[in-house]
Amino acid sequence: MNKLAILKQYVLTKYGRKFSSKTALESYQNKRIRKHIKFVIKHSPFFHQYYQNNQEDLKQNHWSSLPIIEKSTMMEHFDDFNTVGIKKDDALKVAFEAEQTRNFSPKIGDISVGLSSGTSGNRGVFLVSDKESALWAGTILAKVLPGSIFGRHRIAFFLRANNNLYSSTENERISFHFFDLLDDFLSHIHKLNQVQPSIMIGPPSILRKIAEWQKNGEIHIKPKKIVSVAEVLEDIDKQFIEDIFNQTLHQVYQCTEGFLAATCKHGTLHINEDLVVVQKEYLDEEKGVFIPIITDFTRTTQPIIRYRLNDILIERKTPCPCGSHFLALERIDGRCDDLFYGLHKKSGELIPLFPDFIRRAIMFASSEITEYKVTQKTLETIEVKLKINNNDESVKQDAMNELLKIWEHHHLVTPTIQFAPYDLAPSDKKLKRVENEMRGVINDSTSRYSHYK
Ligand SMILES: [Zn+2]
Repeated sequence: MNKLAILKQYVLTKYGRKFSSKTALESYQNKRIRKHIKFVIKHSPFFHQYYQNNQEDLKQNHWSSLPIIEKSTMMEHFDDFNTVGIKKDDALKVAFEAEQTRNFSPKIGDISVGLSSGTSGNRGVFLVSDKESALWAGTILAKVLPGSIFGRHRIAFFLRANNNLYSSTENERISFHFFDLLDDFLSHIHKLNQVQPSIMIGPPSILRKIAEWQKNGEIHIKPKKIVSVAEVLEDIDKQFIEDIFNQTLHQVYQCTEGFLAATCKHGTLHINEDLVVVQKEYLDEEKGVFIPIITDFTRTTQPIIRYRLNDILIERKTPCPCGSHFLALERIDGRCDDLFYGLHKKSGELIPLFPDFIRRAIMFASSEITEYKVTQKTLETIEVKLKINNNDESVKQDAMNELLKIWEHHHLVTPTIQFAPYDLAPSDKKLKRVENEMRGVINDSTSRYSHYK
C-alpha cells in the first residue's frame, strides 16, 4: 500500500478541495466525469458498446442522460465491464477461497476482489485496484478521523469480514483492532477494556450492545468518536448510544459500490460529492424520498456510472449549519426490498409504504418502547416484536393503532397485526428493524416502484 498516496489524498480531501459554491462543485464534477467517461469507453468493451447510441450526449458531456446501469447488468457483463480484463469466474474463485479460509486478502495482481453480501440473493463481485484503495483510505481517514492523521488513534472496527482495505490504513500512530463478528461475543468485552479504543466503528446493533455493557459497568471505555456503519441507523438506537456515551453518533454510508457519505461535525450525513455524484429518482418528491443513481468518477477498474442502488434515501430540506455544499441527507431509510406493500381498497393496486412510516408509527406509539422489529410476512400480515419498559401491555394496543393508521391513510386493505415476543440479539447477521419478508409476491425490485416513473 502506497502510504504517500494515502497521505496525498488525505491532505487533498481535508484541506485541499474546498468548493465555494454549488456551481463550483458541479463544474468540478462535470470536468472529472467527462475525463472519466473518456477513459472508460476506451478501456471497457461493455461501455464502448453500451453508449453506442449516445454519441451526441457524449460530445456535449450530457452524461446525466446516459442509460442507467443495474447491478444485474454489471454482473451479467462482468468480463467486458471492468477495464482490467478480469474474468468473473476467476474473481469469484479467489473471493470464495478467501471467505472460506477467512484469510481476507483475495487479490489478482494489484486488484482486490470483494463480494457484496447481496441480501436479495444476487451477490455482487467488486474489483478495486491498489491505487483506488489508497484513495479510499486517504478519503475515509480525512472524513472520519477526529483530529489529525498525525495524532494517536486506536480504532476498534466491528466487521463481518476483514478486508485488505481496512488494514491498509495502519501505521505507528494509528493502531487498528479488528473485532470479528463471528467470534464469541463475550470475548469482545475483555478486548474492548484492553484496547480502550479512541474510535469505535461498527453496525448500530453492535454499538448498542457495547453501550449496554458500558451502562452495566462491564466495560469502561471513553471513545472520542463513534461511527455507525453497515446497517440502517434507527433513531431508537442512535438515541440510546448517544445518551450512554454522551456524544453525537456519526455515520458512514458505504457499500461495495463506493464510499458514499459521511457525517459532518453536526452529525448530518453529506454525500461525498468530491468523489461521487448522486442523481435522485424520486419515489416521493414532496417528502424528499428517492433512490440514488450514483456516478463515481474516481473508480476506473470497475466503473460505476449512472448506477442505480437498491437503497431509499431521504434528503434534508434545511441547510446544514456546517455550510457544506455537499448534498445533505435526513436519513438512509432502508433497502428497496424492505418497502412494505398494501392493497388499494378500490383499485386493487399494490401501494408501497416507506420504512420511515413504520418507524415513525412505532416511535409515536409510546416512549416506553425500547426496541422493536416490524416484519411484513404477507400482504395481509404484519408481525410486531416489541421490547417495552415495565412490560406495559397497553403499549401493544397503541402500536397497533398507530400502524393501522398508515394503511387507513393510504386507503389500503386492513392487515392483521400479530405480536410475537422480542427475541432479537446482535449477531453476525445484519439487523433490520423494518423488514419485508414477503417473497414470491413481488419478485423483481424494479417492478416495485415502476409505477412511480
Ligand atoms: Zn453538515
